[in-house]
Amino acid sequence: MQNFEQKYDVLIAGTGVAGLCCALHLPGDMRVLMLTKSTAEESDSFLAQGGICMLRGQEDFAGYFEDTMRAGHYENDEGAVRQMIAESPSMIEELIAEGVRFARDEKGSLRFTREGGHSRPRILFHDDVTGKEITSTLLAKVRTLPNVRIAENCTLVDLLCEENECFGGVVRDDAGCLHAVYADFTLLATGGVGGLFRNSTNYPHLTGDALAMALRHGVAVEHLDYVQIHPTTLYSARKGRRFLVSESVRGEGAVLLDKRGNRFCNELMPRDIVTGDIRVQMQKDGTDHVWLDMRPVGEKTLREHFPTICAQCIEEGYDPFGAPIPVVPAQHYFMGGIKVDLDAKTSMSRLFAAGETACNGVHGKNRLASNSLLESLVWARRAAAVMTKNRENGIRRRPSADFSRYEDGEMLQKEYAKLVREEAEREAYHD
Ligand SMILES: Cc1cc2nc3c(=O)[nH]c(=O)nc-3n(C[C@H](O)[C@H](O)[C@H](O)COP(=O)(O)OP(=O)(O)OC[C@H]3O[C@@H](n4cnc5c(N)ncnc54)[C@H](O)[C@@H]3O)c2cc1C
Repeated sequence: MQNFEQKYDVLIAGTGVAGLCCALHLPGDMRVLMLTKSTAEESDSFLAQGGICMLRGQEDFAGYFEDTMRAGHYENDEGAVRQMIAESPSMIEELIAEGVRFARDEKGSLRFTREGGHSRPRILFHDDVTGKEITSTLLAKVRTLPNVRIAENCTLVDLLCEENECFGGVVRDDAGCLHAVYADFTLLATGGVGGLFRNSTNYPHLTGDALAMALRHGVAVEHLDYVQIHPTTLYSARKGRRFLVSESVRGEGAVLLDKRGNRFCNELMPRDIVTGDIRVQMQKDGTDHVWLDMRPVGEKTLREHFPTICAQCIEEGYDPFGAPIPVVPAQHYFMGGIKVDLDAKTSMSRLFAAGETACNGVHGKNRLASNSLLESLVWARRAAAVMTKNRENGIRRRPSADFSRYEDGEMLQKEYAKLVREEAEREAYHD
């Protein structure tokens, strides 16, 4: 059981890159409570394989902008896309200063790779475990901060709010006890919605809880039906989280094959297009998967750049160096979410959202590969700046919470899942 302080300056739900980056950017004299529904290492941020985008120079601004817009079917918010691209070099500089090690060439210069939808290489990576490299570095740093407490296995179950103003949240701790935790500012950084799907690359505990809370309290949300399916996850007849075979493998030359061993699509098109092509091919072939031939990448590059993917294939009984591996599309990313402005502010006063749970318009209808770690970091940094600027303006009320409606955790989770699904279906119907 946990003993929380009655009031914090900032309450952060989620310890992925978004939550951690916000905590890191708050001044050392602001008291911060971070919650994570699981352990701090179990977030999708740890799973990111491919990499993180960066603007390499002004000459690439228009190209990077166009690639992001094209992937998003031009439904993106142009201001948000510009902000993400413009802030990418300083964000990467910060990560490197914190100790994140990106791949470099023999001369020590940063190495860039390319993924589907990108017109040129602009993605930084660390082997095929870029997310782990970034997130573990940030987590280690946050753990040294005396003003930040990380409470593991503690779940935000609702917002404490009145008259469109947020005063913190209701927390279920690791012993199942409920607490009212008050805060001047609250950041929702609870990640995606993969846990609501049968096949997903996400952790199953990511069930869109913050979205459900937003819906309950009339906080604006957007595009809940914009769900990205990743074209290539390792096929398995077993249940559970699907293992992702990163786009960079295709960026480096891997090709998709039908059951006769013929190529059937352009592997470097954006994700939704490749996914559509694979689905059509599976239907034509009457198969549960197609094949990905990674041999064109070359054994040396495969071993050096994609060791985790290769190891997983071998563990599942496939030889990535000798034959094609079976792959199938699965739910991967959520473009919709709690609507936020360029500073990560939601429609509710004192309430912010960043990362996959937020929708700032960067991704439009479909996310360009390797834009989400970057976007999560940029908006989390902005949220921290606004909270810092307004720190003198603390809460003056502490509305009480009726705990009886949260007592049955399972029921609440089902109710939340239903809320999100119904809203997603309603949006899809109206589109
Ligand atoms: C397999 C895989 C590969 C990927 N590869 C890439 C890539 O190469 N490049 C890229 O840019 N992006 C990639 N992504 C996407 C990217 O990893 C995520 O979009 C990003 O990490 C989201 O970060 P986040 O901080 O918003 O959420 P997450 O990292 O998912 O963290 C969510 C946090 O919220 C907590 N939480 C959830 N609900 C609650 C609750 N009710 N109360 C308290 N805590 C809660 C969780 O425990 C967790 O700590 C990939 C994703 C996956 C799954």
